[in-house]
Amino acid sequence: MKLPDRLTASENEDSTNNKRFGSDSKLKTQNSKLGLQGSPIVGITTTIPVEIVFAAGYIPSDLNNLFITAEENTMNRALQAAEMEGYPRTVCGWIKGIYGLVAGNHLIKRLIAVTEGDCSQTHALMETLEERGIDVIPFSYPFSREPQLIKYQLAALADRFGIDLAAAEAEKKRLDEVRRLVREIDRLTYEENLVGGYDNHLFQVSCSDFEGNPESFAQKAEKFIAESRGAGRRQAGPRLAYIGVPPIITNLFHIVQELKGNIFFNEVQRQFAMPYLAKDLTEQYLLYTYPYHIRHRIADIQEQIARRQIDGIIHYCQSFCFRQIEDILFRRHLKLPLLTIEGENPGPMDARTKMRLETFVTMLKTTVRS
Ligand code: SF4
Repeated sequence: MKLPDRLTASENEDSTNNKRFGSDSKLKTQNSKLGLQGSPIVGITTTIPVEIVFAAGYIPSDLNNLFITAEENTMNRALQAAEMEGYPRTVCGWIKGIYGLVAGNHLIKRLIAVTEGDCSQTHALMETLEERGIDVIPFSYPFSREPQLIKYQLAALADRFGIDLAAAEAEKKRLDEVRRLVREIDRLTYEENLVGGYDNHLFQVSCSDFEGNPESFAQKAEKFIAESRGAGRRQAGPRLAYIGVPPIITNLFHIVQELKGNIFFNEVQRQFAMPYLAKDLTEQYLLYTYPYHIRHRIADIQEQIARRQIDGIIHYCQSFCFRQIEDILFRRHLKLPLLTIEGENPGPMDARTKMRLETFVTMLKTTVRS
């Protein structure tokens, strides 16, 4: 797919390579793949209106994706660095990982942090990173979900990047073409069983930053779609939904597959992919369920589990995350067998969780259609 040209980067950055955690070299590789050596990278701590970043000529880099795809050694050193700095043990692994990654990486000098609608721990993350000289740009999703307030936030962010919203709306049209491809990957997952839960997760979660280059990401998605259509249908087995934040457990999807379960719905990852193809940015970030009241997520999950004929739900909770409390409401409102699992630090699944997952999938195999 050839996408229309976008604005070129407007600012050069000092690209001093600090090898402290080994992650700069990965960023450099990403940067050189884009053909924009020396262009500015904007770190993001979660899904933000990425259209504004691209329209202003910057390169977004989702720090969660960067952290979880780093080598194990790099991830552990980032966590240790945060704890050595004074981050308590009882802080979320994602927050500590992002802190350690950014604090030890001279390529990321600017980041957008979501201060309302994501995570309370982000506030202290922002404050401690600012102390390290990082330019932190706040963005909020107003909890009231009022269109005029969302529009105001979008305009304020655009203003901070020196563009107007019209430029970002034009970028949305370009990105919608890529989102259409990812929507097709999702459809091939649950309608045709041609795509596995891990690939579904990966393509959707990558829509937070389109790997820094929407055009090459679109080509990758097109190739993947063609290959998936050519491959046979995947194994039959219980139809599962994965809800909650993306897992810090690195082999969760592979274990589910080994157990012959099929994840046909990745809830939050699908939200990151903005599947609605809304008419404008205000509507798009209004329909995005994750930052607002839990009832919007529950309504979306109910609709999708019916459409995708889901048999059972895996609710992933991150240790020390306030969202663990929401498990109460999911259990109350989602009328399907639900297994809650928890992860703390990046790495493979522990034996106890694996055993619980195995029992859950086996139970579903004996009680539902296969
Ligand atoms: S998992 Fe929870 S605590 Fe951790 S960054 Fe996400 S919202 Fe915050």
